[in-house]
Amino acid sequence: MNPEYSMNTNLLHSKRDIQGMTLQPETFPLFATAAFSQRNLSDVKRAYNEKQFTYVRTRNPNRKVLSEAISLLEAGEDTFVSSSGMGAIFSTIFALTDAGSHVLCNREIYGETYEIMTEILPRFHVEVEMISFADCAEVASHMKPNTKIVYTEVASNPCIQLTDIPELAKLAHKNGAYLVVDNTFTSPINIQPLAFGADISINSLTKFLNGHSDALGGSATGTAELIAKVTAVGKLSGVPITPYDSWLIFRGLQTAALRIEKQTDNAVKLAAALKANPHVEAVCHPSLPDSPQNALSQKLFGNKGGTAMLSFIVPEDSAKIDAFMEKLTLARYAMTLGGLRTTLSHPCTSSHHALPDAERRALGITPGMFRVSVGLETAEDLIADFNNALTVFD
Ligand code: PLP
Repeated sequence: MNPEYSMNTNLLHSKRDIQGMTLQPETFPLFATAAFSQRNLSDVKRAYNEKQFTYVRTRNPNRKVLSEAISLLEAGEDTFVSSSGMGAIFSTIFALTDAGSHVLCNREIYGETYEIMTEILPRFHVEVEMISFADCAEVASHMKPNTKIVYTEVASNPCIQLTDIPELAKLAHKNGAYLVVDNTFTSPINIQPLAFGADISINSLTKFLNGHSDALGGSATGTAELIAKVTAVGKLSGVPITPYDSWLIFRGLQTAALRIEKQTDNAVKLAAALKANPHVEAVCHPSLPDSPQNALSQKLFGNKGGTAMLSFIVPEDSAKIDAFMEKLTLARYAMTLGGLRTTLSHPCTSSHHALPDAERRALGITPGMFRVSVGLETAEDLIADFNNALTVFD
């Protein structure tokens, strides 16, 4: 890495020298092999001692270049790259806890992370408390001597509530715990959580960092010491990413900054337009001037919009909601986010369907809420499409 160049220039020109390769392909090739053969036992011993490529689940060239690129983006020493975001989350939590540990987790998190916390960890005698992270004093009051992990997303799903990463890092470290942060909704293009004190930053690479909705992957970035522990668990649980998915995601990463900056900018514009529409009851995006999170947004993202995710609430009329979705010509319902095209999801029927209505409402999630992953369309086209579809509520 050349400190005189921007992160993006460094990413495009990152070192891709692979042991023994004398050719200089302009794009990094796909090594579609399950193993690398050795000529004799001396070579085998050297390969083990020097951590060369032997068996693909252990190490391989495509995962190596991807891991180095993500470490560069997240400004971390090392990165474990897994076959999905859940693989990175699972490996990280299991690497950092033991029977008897306590985990303090933001209750507003991705549904399947919630399930690991509440259904899997207790079976291994890890005590988990799910609480609101809106107030750091409240988080502090739940810390225990055996708290090993403080876990949160930078921006929650679907209400896009930000968490005060620097304050949480201080609090976790004062108590000898690690702060683990899921950066999927925000991405390292908008924030590098490690620079704010987080110990591990996790991404579902399936989303914005790959950006093309054609591969699954996940990552956990931190110090070499912590990532060695995560990698050990990940390797044994069989979740390291395949060469092909690594190759696709590495290709997607080359344009991550260009895409995510534009998507975030589009989200800022769409949030402002939805806010001005009389049929929209509420809009959640930290860039909105009247958002209670505006000051925290400035602290975390400076003048950047922070995230290309937003949510908004329309009247609870199911027939009109169906008509609204059908009238949209650009945004489509899809069970993913972070792709090139704008997609919608409906938290009450997807991520939060298992919660009772009253609990959902307490979190601010109503049947009229949509979550939007803003794509790369021209902002004016998107705004016109949403405004036109919202006329069904006239
Ligand atoms: N973290 C967040 C915030 C997510 O939204 C998701 C999936 O939607 C995940 C983690 C899990 O990622 P994956 O589907 O790649 O396992």
